Amino acid sequence: MRAPSLRRQQAQPPITEDELAVSAMCRDLRHAWQHDTDVIHPFGSKFERHLICVRCGTVRIDSFAIDHRHATLTRQGSRYRYAPGYHIRGGVPLSTLRYRLLNLIQKGI
Ligand SMILES: [Zn+2]
Repeated sequence: MRAPSLRRQQAQPPITEDELAVSAMCRDLRHAWQHDTDVIHPFGSKFERHLICVRCGTVRIDSFAIDHRHATLTRQGSRYRYAPGYHIRGGVPLSTLRYRLLNLIQKGI
């Protein structure tokens, strides 16, 4: 039998209701993205699409390379600006977040 990992033996920091209110639904269901703005950079070689989560306010910026010669737009990556309070200290497992969210729902919060 394997011994529990050191991480499991350490006490988890408490999750505050404020932390849950900001991010628990988005961590469980994923963000609810809505288009915000589009930005075409000078020289026309790069395009950015800005999306915002309607639940938590996190912003996702998708970057695309524009290839006029081949008439393509290739996604190069995404970066995020997380809403204040989104991050939860200690890296809480999703199953724990869901359980705490259920507790809030039962309390009517
Ligand atoms: Zn969100």
